[in-house]
Amino acid sequence: MSNHELYQTAFSLINHKKLRNFGTSGHVACALETNQGNIFTGICIDLPCSIGLCAEQSAISEMVKNNETAIKRIVAVYEDGSILPPCGRCREFIGQIDDRNMETKIVLPEMKEVLLKDLLPERWDSKWN
Ligand SMILES: [Zn+2]
Repeated sequence: MSNHELYQTAFSLINHKKLRNFGTSGHVACALETNQGNIFTGICIDLPCSIGLCAEQSAISEMVKNNETAIKRIVAVYEDGSILPPCGRCREFIGQIDDRNMETKIVLPEMKEVLLKDLLPERWDSKWN
């Protein structure tokens, strides 16, 4: 699957909903392709008190549920159609799920690609690897 097709898959899931107590969901969506070629998707959930989860974490949860952990490429899309780079927590989350994910291609705005390892230099956990 191309970066553009992965982007379209994520964008098709945008469905911004209001939840109780100012909570919202679905204004960011994520699609990832695993090393085995499967596609998993997720949406964000934002709740008060900084409780919630990013679309990337939601997609990764689906992937792990299906017994895969190695991500070939991943993209997150905001409701206006722009591509969002993963937040710091998601970068770490992707890296800690599987050592191979340091080679994951992160799709950036304008379909630029960067490897996760280039977004996470000077690993804190290299002592244990
Ligand atoms: Zn995040």
